[in-house]
Amino acid sequence: MEFSYLNPTQIEFGQGKISSISSLIPKDNKVLFIYGGGSIKRNGVYDQVINSLEGYNFFEFSGVEPNPTKETLDKAIKLAKDEDIDFILAVGGGSVIDGAKYVAHSYYYEGDGWDILEGKYISEKALPIGAVVTLAATGSESNTGSVITKAQTKEKRFFRSVHSFPKFAVMDPSVLKSLDDRQIKNGLVDAFVHTCEQYLTYKQGRIAQDNYAEGILRGLITLANSVDNRDDLWYANLLWLANQAFNGLIGAGVTQDWATHYIGHELTGLYGIDHARTLAIIQPNLFRVLKEHKAGKLLQMGENVFRIDTTDPDIIINKIEELYKSLDIDLKISDYTDDKEVKEKVIPLLIKHGFSKLGENQIVDTNIVEKVLDKSM
Ligand code: NAP
Ligand code: FE
Repeated sequence: MEFSYLNPTQIEFGQGKISSISSLIPKDNKVLFIYGGGSIKRNGVYDQVINSLEGYNFFEFSGVEPNPTKETLDKAIKLAKDEDIDFILAVGGGSVIDGAKYVAHSYYYEGDGWDILEGKYISEKALPIGAVVTLAATGSESNTGSVITKAQTKEKRFFRSVHSFPKFAVMDPSVLKSLDDRQIKNGLVDAFVHTCEQYLTYKQGRIAQDNYAEGILRGLITLANSVDNRDDLWYANLLWLANQAFNGLIGAGVTQDWATHYIGHELTGLYGIDHARTLAIIQPNLFRVLKEHKAGKLLQMGENVFRIDTTDPDIIINKIEELYKSLDIDLKISDYTDDKEVKEKVIPLLIKHGFSKLGENQIVDTNIVEKVLDKSM
């Protein structure tokens, strides 16, 4: 086992913590306050942020959409450059925080920020970011990931950089109460699949990582089973579980999968299907196609997560699918689009994006993706 582990993001967790922003951003910094389509104006988060920014020289940029587009974010980059911004405050879900990361890196680049997503420009510095997370799902508030869409070509791509870690993440579980059921359920699924991407590979004997991942998965299942009876603690547990699922810890020193995410990104780019729903569609079918390869870990998950004693991996795959169904997630691509030529579009895009082979040990080639997509139609 070999790894480097770093997570420098300061976490401020708890109700009322938004006010701590004023002690976390240097007073002389010019701040760009970035947010989404307006949910923060309806649930009181905007007012709390404005109060905390009293005395700062700050600018607002709103309208970052779910699955944030480069086209929108390029306007924020221009504003940041024109106003010589020192610090970006991202207030929203994964889309806003991911978008802020793209702006923070592009700030120091003369060319088109999309070059970062295409790997044509490796950025070595970024503006500092602070995050107020309003949706529990992605872990973006304290990780290195960022997923950006180019609307013009319907491409959804990601980049990772150690310079993307937010300086701080404010995590106030009470702000999750204004989320609708769909976003709450999507968040449960995204966090569940993030954990699986780092856990459900082949047996690697990573005892600490496996046990922690299994604990997160059990926790998410407990929350899924009580999703209709949410109290304060329920929201707090979801926010922290989703963060822990994807902050680098459970994946340290682990050969990871992520094929479900790569295929899912193409489906969101092409058809606008919610991120988590693409994962719920693809993941069980990927496991079915790779059943023999993943059997050991599926059975371990059965024993330690679902508490089922079986030698049949299909039973565990069906349990995962039942979990998604219990969250009212439609599990066929045809539930979301009439397009019959999905694989004809997804596979060339994966190849264009440099993913001719996916998954742990690169075992998922285009033939396997085709089988997975056939099963998912
Ligand atoms: P999101 O796209 O940020 O937000 C979804 C919707 O929820 C938006 O319409 C937003 O409205 C609304 N919303 C957010 N907080 C709310 C609240 N407290 N109350 C009411 N409505 C609220 O959702 P997300 O699932 O967090 O992020 C998804 C994106 O993250 C995708 O692009 C996905 O690919 C990416 N992702 C990133 C990572 C990573 O590691 N960085 C990992 C997985 C996925 P407003 O716009 O009005 O605020
Ligand atoms: Fe995700």
